[in-house]
Order: sequence, then structure tokens, then C-alpha cells
Amino acid sequence: MLILMKADAPPDQVNAVMEKVREHGFRPLELPGQERTAIGVLGSNPIQLRDLVLSLPGVADAVPVSKPFKLVSREFHPQSSVVTVRDRSFGPPHFQVIAGPCSVESEAQLMAAAEAVKAAGATLLRGGAFKPRTSPYSFRGLGEAGLELLAKARDALGLPIVTEVLTTEEVPLVAGYADLLQVGARNCQNFGLLEAVGRTRKPILLKRGMSNTIEEWLLSAEYIVGQGNDDVILCERGIRTFEGFTRNTLDLGAVPVVKELSHLPVIVDPSHGSGHWWMVPPLARAAAAVGADGLLIEVHPAPDEALSDGAQSLNPVKFQHLMRELAPLLDTLGIRLG
Ligand code: PEP
Ligand code: MN
Repeated sequence: MLILMKADAPPDQVNAVMEKVREHGFRPLELPGQERTAIGVLGSNPIQLRDLVLSLPGVADAVPVSKPFKLVSREFHPQSSVVTVRDRSFGPPHFQVIAGPCSVESEAQLMAAAEAVKAAGATLLRGGAFKPRTSPYSFRGLGEAGLELLAKARDALGLPIVTEVLTTEEVPLVAGYADLLQVGARNCQNFGLLEAVGRTRKPILLKRGMSNTIEEWLLSAEYIVGQGNDDVILCERGIRTFEGFTRNTLDLGAVPVVKELSHLPVIVDPSHGSGHWWMVPPLARAAAAVGADGLLIEVHPAPDEALSDGAQSLNPVKFQHLMRELAPLLDTLGIRLG
């Protein structure tokens, strides 16, 4: 429920309403607006509060919020949020390109990738140190040594780093290195992990689970924001469908839906969303056109030799080509890289 205060309601009336909400076991959230203050009421069924608060001084109206998610909804927060990662902003009118290898494999591989993506105009560097792999026999990442290499690349090149955290226990370790902490598709509904990253003060990149509806994905974001961490960036990375040609079906329609329902920034990952390197440029262009706030693209100095996701990775030349194609498109759309 959203309680709308009268435009001239003084702070003590706002406080009295907040207190009444608390008395009934719900969490009030003050939402100052340009014209008037609103109070969001968090809780599963606060509707019985409506009559009670309507009779309090200063209250103009109390309207039920139809969506199950509250903190991440546009109803609670009409303006689009801008999430800052070091000096990079995600959210209109900014556009960020996160690029780098699927996995950090060695210092030489990471530095080659990092230098190439920086030269082509990428604004953040990605690389997995803790990798979620379907088979336990696949390369599962270098662990902390990979995090150290990422930090070294950041220090050398000045690109903020994005890397995945797989488990709740590893949150302090990974958060100690990452500028943007990734929660991967497989962990989109790992609620303990979501709350643990919500307790950090690092921005979080929340990928959509491969079988999650948009509502489930936004409820996962609600778990993070509910812990006091407002800095969540959503990432559409494709979902499982009956289609077998592509690794996943990239749901570009999710971008305008998320923009309608939520104030959070949303980026698109056409690499995992397709599984084929040659599909990445057209899908990246489409993502920008459909309103995404950025891209996540896998780039490897030698995709044929990659220890993970080589088939969907661009080589440096192809990535540079894509960045050149994107520039006039972003201009036309009135958004700016960086
Ligand atoms: C990745 O970014 O390399 C990754 C494993 O992504 P996802 O969680 O989307 O599969
Ligand atoms: Mn990958």
C-alpha cells in the first residue's frame, strides 16, 4: 500500500502515520516527492491498515499496490534509478558496456582481453573467477587468484571490475575485490545469497534466472533491496524455451517490461542469450534500440582456446567492430557511452 500525504502535511503528521504503520507490524518507508510525501507500506497484506490511516491527520489517500514487489517498483519510485559503479553510471541517459572473458584463465589472457576491450571503448571489465559450471569436471575458475588478476587489470587500466559470487560464504571475499558483484542466472533465486549481497554496500548485477518470470526476477531484486542495498542492476541473459538452435532465448521484450514495472536499470547479455558469437552484434544493437541501459559481452583474445564459453565470445577485432557500429546508434537514441 502507498499512503499519500497531503501536500501541506508537516513532518510530525508524516511521523505519526509511520508510527501507526509500525504499531501494526508493517515496515513504513518514507518516499519524499516533489509535491508531497508518500509512505510505502511493506508487508504481505497491509490492506486492513487502510481505514486506520485514512482517518489520521495529513493523509490524502491510501492506495493498494497491485504488484507483489514494492521497493523495486515504479509505484514506489517513479523516477528511473541511476546506479553508480565507481565513476560509471547505469541508468538513463548513460549506457555502459561490460566486456571481458567468461573466465579469468591467466594473467596474459586477462590482460590481453582487458587491453583490447578498453581500446575498443568498453567501460567496465568482466571476468569470472568462481565459475558456475554444469559439470563438476569443467574449468571452474581460478578462485581468489583470478580475483587478484582482475584487481591488477583494474589498477593497470582503470576499468571497474565485474565478477560473480557463487556462494554466501564467499561474499566477503569477492566483495573485497569486485566493483560490481554479479549474481548469476543459476543463483537468481538463491535467497540466502541475495540477502547476503544485500547486506554488502557493493552494487549488484542480478542476472535473470533461466526459468524465471519477470515477476520472480523482480522479487529476487526485492530481496537485495530489502536488506538496504538499493544499487541493483538487472541483466537479461536469455531464458530456456523449446528452441534448441540458440543456447537460450534472449527475451528482449523483458527490457520494456522491466522499465515499465521497475525503476532499476537493466542491461542485456547477448553472449549467454544466444550462445553464438555471430549473433552477438545484431542482438547487442537490438538491445540498445529496445531501451537497455548497457550490455554485457564476452570477449576472449583467442575464443577457440577459451576454457569456457568460447563459442559465444567475440575476438578483439569483432568486438571493436561492434563498438564502432554501436556509436552512431547510441547517438541516435540520445544515450551516451560511459
Ligand atoms: C557468466 O556471466 O559467465 C555466466 C555464467 O552467466 P549466467 O549466470 O548468465 O549463465
Ligand atoms: Mn560465460
